[in-house]
Amino acid sequence: MVAYQYRCAEHGVCEVQRPMGSAPAQWPCPECGGDTARVFAAPHLGLADRGRLAAIDATRRSADEPAVVTSVPGSGARRRTPTASDNPVLRRLPKP
Ligand SMILES: [Zn+2]
Repeated sequence: MVAYQYRCAEHGVCEVQRPMGSAPAQWPCPECGGDTARVFAAPHLGLADRGRLAAIDATRRSADEPAVVTSVPGSGARRRTPTASDNPVLRRLPKP
């Protein structure tokens, strides 16, 4: 949810919580019910961390058009090589 601001000529600015991107141009004033105009203010981007903003942007970009990939994700991952265990009980097991 995002806080959008609207200005009434008589009662000043009021704040409305709406989902991101769904703010109408006008909103009825909570006190008089009259028309209000949307106020564009600076968002509080400084309060969010970069990782969260990047995830929001990536989600928004892929909402209508998913990202196109050229290979299967994870195909370039390195394989783990088996290592010797330090557990002495396992050393007594038969070797293949
Ligand atoms: Zn009003």
